[in-house]
Amino acid sequence: MSTQGTNYTVANAGPVAELQPGNLAEPDVKQFLGENLGLTGCEASITRLAPGMPSKFVHAHKRNEELYIVLRGSGLFYVDGDEFPVVEGSVVRVAPDGVRAMVAGDAGLNVICIQTETGSLTGATHEDGYLADAKPSWLAQQG
Ligand code: ZN
Repeated sequence: MSTQGTNYTVANAGPVAELQPGNLAEPDVKQFLGENLGLTGCEASITRLAPGMPSKFVHAHKRNEELYIVLRGSGLFYVDGDEFPVVEGSVVRVAPDGVRAMVAGDAGLNVICIQTETGSLTGATHEDGYLADAKPSWLAQQG
C-alpha cells in the first residue's frame, strides 16, 4: 500500500517492533521497498532476524554496494572472513565484492539495507541539493 504525488511516494513498512515475527515458523522477515516506492536509483529493504537467526544467504554483489543501518537489536556481521558486532545505530558499508552475512543476537536484529551501484553517486547534499521557494504549513506563519 502506498500513496503518491507527482514527485513522491509514501509507504509504511509498519512499526519496527511489528517486523518481529510472532512465531518461530517465520523467524526472518524481509520487505523490499524498491518496487513499492518506485525507487529508481537504489533498492532498499528492511529485515528482521529473530534472536539467534542467521541471514538466509552468504552473498556478494556484481555491481552494488550495500549500506546496512541497524535500527534495533544487535548481532554479528561477517565480511570477507572478519566478524564484528553491530548494535542499534551501527552503519556498515559493504563493497560489491565483500562476501557478507549476519546473525542476530539475543534481542534479534532489525536492519535497513540500501543497495546502490558502486560509483554511481556524482553529487550529494551540497552539489545536488538546492533551496526551493515553498512554504510548508509549519513555515507559513513566519512571513
Ligand atoms: Zn545484498
